[in-house]
Amino acid sequence: MSQSIEQLQHQLRSLRLVEVANHLPNIIQEAESKDWTYRKFLNNLMNYEQRRREEKQFEKQFEKRFKWATFPFNKTLETFNLKEQQSLSKKQLNQLREFTWIDQLFNLILLGPPGVGKTHLATGLGIEALNKGYKVSFVSMGELINLLKTEEITRKSQARMKRIRNANLVIIDDLMFMAMDQNEANLFFHLINDLYNNASIILTSNKSPNEWGELLGDPAITTAILDRIVHRAEVIHLNGDSYRMRHRITIFGQESVQN
Ligand code: ADP
Ligand code: MG
Repeated sequence: MSQSIEQLQHQLRSLRLVEVANHLPNIIQEAESKDWTYRKFLNNLMNYEQRRREEKQFEKQFEKRFKWATFPFNKTLETFNLKEQQSLSKKQLNQLREFTWIDQLFNLILLGPPGVGKTHLATGLGIEALNKGYKVSFVSMGELINLLKTEEITRKSQARMKRIRNANLVIIDDLMFMAMDQNEANLFFHLINDLYNNASIILTSNKSPNEWGELLGDPAITTAILDRIVHRAEVIHLNGDSYRMRHRITIFGQESVQN
């Protein structure tokens, strides 16, 4: 007497052919309805198992890379409203989405006051680049300085810095948010120098590059850093009122605006 499908599935699972086991009823049905040869049937079983394993491997890899990228939120370009942001055209955004600029080691500098969507745009581009297979790392400037200072001391910082150094795209958010001392500026310069010929950088800042000098302290280091960042770079000025302000949730509702 032939075995029931359940028994076959059980046996397949004990042989670790889990994917085929789950899909067995469908495969058998298709084989019967299409009069597959024995060879074709066996071939399809094997291919199915192999394909599913590869897909799962890819998904796992993607999840891991996504986790490692440490995005601040899961905001994509699909939810980035270009009508709200007149300073970037659809054509320009589409060009950025092709990511040839990453292959060519171009940097992006996103400037603008708080709330105009710099972090959202940077994250959206980062997530999409990750989807296309690039290694991406997101870090805020404050965090980065901390990591650089503790890289030699803690394993956690070391691991995180390794991922940043290995990334194809490094997003440094809120540059120059705080003033740096000489040691910090030096560490930052060395990182930028390491990344210069190996990765693309997206920098966001609410200060324009000519104000960066004051915050970095040392004019020589500032020039050296700026040279490397702007050598191959596109600067995008995001402007307009804060998106947060315009879309804020109020306690009093519409009337509050009038008074
Ligand atoms: P910034 O980094 O420039 O200070 P954020 O990127 O953090 O600003 O944006 C502030 C908030 O407004 C976020 O919740 C973001 O998703 C939203 N936001 C800003 N610009 C847009 C936009 N063009 N379309 C959709 N949401 C936006
Ligand atoms: Mg921001």
